[in-house]
Amino acid sequence: MALDPICGMEVQVAGARHTLRQKNATYYFCCSGCKEKFERDLTLAVDSWAPPDSVSPR
Ligand SMILES: [Zn+2]
Repeated sequence: MALDPICGMEVQVAGARHTLRQKNATYYFCCSGCKEKFERDLTLAVDSWAPPDSVSPR
C-alpha cells in the first residue's frame, strides 16, 4: 500500500491507475483529481520558488 499525498488515503500499488513518477519517487493517488492537484502544486512550487522566509503559510 502507498499513501495518497493529497488526501492521505491508502492506495493499492499493484495495478494503481493514478501514479506520478518523479526523479526518485513514485506517487500513488486514489483518483485523477488528487493527481492533478499534486501536479499543480508541484508546478507552482517550482515556478514560484522563493526563500523559506518569504513563503506565506497556506
Ligand atoms: Zn486522493
